[in-house]
Amino acid sequence: MNRLADTFSRKIDYLRISITDHCNLNCSYCSPFGGRVKLTHAEILSYEEICRLTQAAVQGGISKVRITGGEPLVRKGVVEFCRMLSGIEGLKSLTLTTNGVRLRELAPQLQGAGVQRVNISLDTLRPESFRKITGYDLLSQVLAGIEMAEEVGLHPVKINTVVMRGVNEDEIEDFARLTLEKPYDVRFIELMPFNGSSEHQSLFVPVEEMVKRVKRVGDLSLEPAAESSGPTRLCSLPGAKGKVGFIAPLSYHFCGSCNRLRLTADGKLRPCLFSEEEIDIKGPLRAGAPTEELIHIYRLAAMRKPHGHQLNCTHVEQYFGRDMQAIGG
Ligand code: SAM
Repeated sequence: MNRLADTFSRKIDYLRISITDHCNLNCSYCSPFGGRVKLTHAEILSYEEICRLTQAAVQGGISKVRITGGEPLVRKGVVEFCRMLSGIEGLKSLTLTTNGVRLRELAPQLQGAGVQRVNISLDTLRPESFRKITGYDLLSQVLAGIEMAEEVGLHPVKINTVVMRGVNEDEIEDFARLTLEKPYDVRFIELMPFNGSSEHQSLFVPVEEMVKRVKRVGDLSLEPAAESSGPTRLCSLPGAKGKVGFIAPLSYHFCGSCNRLRLTADGKLRPCLFSEEEIDIKGPLRAGAPTEELIHIYRLAAMRKPHGHQLNCTHVEQYFGRDMQAIGG
């Protein structure tokens, strides 16, 4: 297999694939303008096209794929699609990121189709706050989805919690306590500036503050570096069944270890989450490009990865070409 690397010698082996820009929730920080005009059926890649692009990516050096959205579980046929993907020779890891709304129903089938793990986005454990953040009354459904993911063995179940001041920062301790009883990895994430407005600053909670709050529940011990994956630094509370993680894209950016490319639902490769630059791969694919040419486009995208993003906690009034919902996080 080929090796994919960028101009800074970072190994690129992880592809996040967004399969739709539609979502069944409406979180304001993810889709700040209530969702832009949605992509049409003709614009988005078909499952067969995504599989072809994934095969090329794997031949080019990608070994880990994460399916994302919008909400990936709202796209029809997602289970069969995962089965197609998991059959790709050389693909070592197939995971999925979801808001959990359809997980109770789909977790057993996804597991059967070769999905190894799921990340579930959940910002609150309070029904009223859930409705405020997402626009829907579906907390119990999401919690049932998390239980089901655990039951069918999608281990470790990871819960991603974006912390926002005045919204859910007072729930950090409750989320941390969840790891005492459940074998979940709860990862607290700094809010990223995606709406191009100054609202970010009033909502932003730095990671140090999150750590302080978790320490009110108990002493934190750092897991060995090998246990931590990607940008997450994992810790655990005494006697806990699960772990607590922190992801701090602004306070401590982890660009130095970035190993990823993103494929949008409409067939663009995005070298960096925080840069508008995109490289079209759908056009060449639809024009009949052979696999070697597709691999070449992945190499090109890897070479376009910047050294790091320029954001810090105060320089945030920037827009990155698409909402998070249309990129996939
Ligand atoms: N619908 C799926 C989900 O909920 O996981 C996948 C797509 S969603 C865009 C992926 C992740 O991006 C979610 O965990 C969401 O919380 C996160 N996200 C969206 N906007 C964000 C922001 N401004 N800062 C930090 N994380 C954000």
